Amino acid sequence: MDQPGARAWSPLRLAALCVAVVATTACAVAPLTGERPDGRNEPAAPGGASSQPQGESLEGTDTVEEFEQDIVGAEQLADEYWSQRFAGFGAPFQPIGQVVPYYRDGELSCGEQLIPRNNAVYCLASGEEFIAYDANWAFAVFQAVGDSFLFYLIGHEYAHGIQARLELDYSFSIERELAADCLAGAYLGDSVRDGTLRLDDGDLDEFQRGLEAVADDPDQPWFEEGSHGTAEQRIAAFFKGYDGSLAGCDLS
Ligand SMILES: [Zn+2]
Repeated sequence: MDQPGARAWSPLRLAALCVAVVATTACAVAPLTGERPDGRNEPAAPGGASSQPQGESLEGTDTVEEFEQDIVGAEQLADEYWSQRFAGFGAPFQPIGQVVPYYRDGELSCGEQLIPRNNAVYCLASGEEFIAYDANWAFAVFQAVGDSFLFYLIGHEYAHGIQARLELDYSFSIERELAADCLAGAYLGDSVRDGTLRLDDGDLDEFQRGLEAVADDPDQPWFEEGSHGTAEQRIAAFFKGYDGSLAGCDLS
């Protein structure tokens, strides 16, 4: 993203699993199984913010520093994007204040539910709101897929916060998840169109690979709690928003 270096897709085995959590929490993704690409255990310091000077590009370095910079950048971009959209709706907007890494099973909880490894979640429970991501897992996918994955990941979780603000109701979790993919696509597509985000060759392919990586197993029943959609469904939902902006997503 911005000036990403060329990356080859590494065909790590990605198994579908998602976490059924409290109603106001939504998980994004699926676990990565197998070896971590670099054997790191703790890629990001708690708190996560990059210590890099603003404006210094780490694109294509595949480093922990680039990872941290991209997480912070994706959050800031989402804050700005949704602030502007809500202003356009004439509605007040409170950004999601916290995007936090975690490293171990149960290190964080959402309400009374412990958050497991190999995932990312949006949590709104017990009066607190945050996005949390397993830093080791996200770093491994970042290295396997590319930096675009992090922008998608934050965009998807942020979208659950937008759904909460708009009080959107869904009958099945797959509807909520595909709608979040669409909103993540709108956030990224619009940011590219207005020039706040610049893609390089291969970034669109990275989005597609990332969505394939987090898709449900083909034999997972669509109506099950925690279902997110097949690769085809997730890619279609994301690019509906990416190409068509919010008009492509059902916000009613
Ligand atoms: Zn989700």
